[in-house]
Amino acid sequence: NKNMLTGIQSTGIPHLGNILGVIIPSINIANNSKYSSYIFIADLHSLIEIKNLETIRYNTYQITAAWLAFGLNTEKSLLYRQSDVPEVTELAWYLNCFFPYQRLTLAHSFKKKMENNEKINVGVFSYPILMAADILLYNAEIIPVGKDQLQHVEIARYIANRFNKKIGKKIFVLPEAFLKKETMSIPGIDGKKMSKSKKNWIDIFSSDEILKKQIMSIHTDNKSLNEKKNPDKNYIMYLYKLLAPINRVEEMRKKYLKGGYGYLEAKIALYECIIKKFSFERKKFFSLIKKKYLLDRILDLGAKKAKNIAFKRLNNIRKILKFNPS
Ligand code: ATP
Ligand code: MG
Repeated sequence: NKNMLTGIQSTGIPHLGNILGVIIPSINIANNSKYSSYIFIADLHSLIEIKNLETIRYNTYQITAAWLAFGLNTEKSLLYRQSDVPEVTELAWYLNCFFPYQRLTLAHSFKKKMENNEKINVGVFSYPILMAADILLYNAEIIPVGKDQLQHVEIARYIANRFNKKIGKKIFVLPEAFLKKETMSIPGIDGKKMSKSKKNWIDIFSSDEILKKQIMSIHTDNKSLNEKKNPDKNYIMYLYKLLAPINRVEEMRKKYLKGGYGYLEAKIALYECIIKKFSFERKKFFSLIKKKYLLDRILDLGAKKAKNIAFKRLNNIRKILKFNPS
């Protein structure tokens, strides 16, 4: 059995990008009998951005409810809060000491923030090391992620290899990112990567009314109703292609090329398609989010199982490093 692992930060509610890029493909793997899956809510990571613990806690419930609404089977896969398995922070420290500082300064997300002169905390810098610990603690090989996390998985792979070589033993398996071209970077309403922190999301777990407003705000060029439109350079079409049945997509494509078809109409088609496609998941989400006790129970159980595995793994690493096992 191979191990799959993936995480979402508790910085907000999972949006269409998280869902298409990570949640759906991960659940397909997790429900396959050939894999053991570790799915966690990266609340420690979200502390980098959010200092209000109540907000982090609430977001954690929203993410948990989303995973369950999309059909994650928690009898088979582990779903847990990162902070409930603090072994990961000890491993992160060991990894810190095996990774060259200079190399970490080249990480895209850190570099970009430095270039923009943003005020940042040390957490931003060591983010990839904590992520490497998340992965390596469970010997995870398959890591479903979006494009923005590709470099971080590469960093984890590099640390694993370097650690193994320095110690002279194969302690860690080398992880690999799992992603698909069409879904690895879902555009938000402004055409930039959809993000919880950029307010450019499409949130299928909001009310019909708000969801409609979000879809109506998708940026387009300013071609008039009668003009012919380019279906391959259009965010409405980009999303529609991923969600609608193929014959419907073909119809829309033809209408774009022919002219006389406005973006407003295309947006309504996209909205209706989303409402229809996710009606089951939305209902389930709205019902689950009211049952915090149930979500807590599932997360606690997941944490217990994860902790059991993490504890043994970490002790093994402690022994290898000649620290006393606990
Ligand atoms: P934040 O703005 O707080 O970073 P986020 O939307 O980027 O939020 P994360 O929790 O950072 O979400 O990422 C969770 C997973 O979802 C990661 O694997 C990330 O690569 C993936 N992901 C995030 N945004 C998108 C997107 N627009 N398309 C596809 N995958 C995405
Ligand atoms: Mg992100």
